[in-house]
Amino acid sequence: MAGNLTLTMIKPDAVKKNAIGGILKMMNDGGFKIVAMKYMHLSKTKAEAFYAVHKERPFYGELTEFMSSGPIVAAILEKDNAVEDFRKLIGATNPAEAEDGTIRKVYATSIGENAVHGSDSDENAQIEGDFFFSQQERF
Ligand code: ATP
Ligand code: MG
Repeated sequence: MAGNLTLTMIKPDAVKKNAIGGILKMMNDGGFKIVAMKYMHLSKTKAEAFYAVHKERPFYGELTEFMSSGPIVAAILEKDNAVEDFRKLIGATNPAEAEDGTIRKVYATSIGENAVHGSDSDENAQIEGDFFFSQQERF
């Protein structure tokens, strides 16, 4: 059975565009409840740890530089079938391919600066949620 939690980040590009409120509204309107939330600046080391699965990819340096370039919002979101439904709501990695009505269609700039992160599996949703939040920080 699909899990009901996913982990999101509002990335530095979207924070700089003053889009935190607009993106949180799209998440709420999409049926997602906020279980935990933090406004923080990831160090380069923390960004490298979060994206360790992409270590061998050519864009790893660019990605971790970008993710540590300014503050982010990290949140755990709850909804039935959360991982799959949230990836539908955020749209394709490349905003040029993102469907109308998706968060990346509205707010992303490029494949690198694409406004939001969403977990890609229930297993990673749990790992990523634990990366940012203790049990006491979840409601
Ligand atoms: P995310 O994991 O952030 O939700 P995703 O699952 O859609 O995005 P991944 O393949 O996991 O995409 O890539 C992680 C992130 O790495 C992307 O969101 C993007 O910011 C960056 N990225 C991916 N491909 C490229 C690329 N070709 N050039 C630059 N950055 C890239
Ligand atoms: Mg991913």
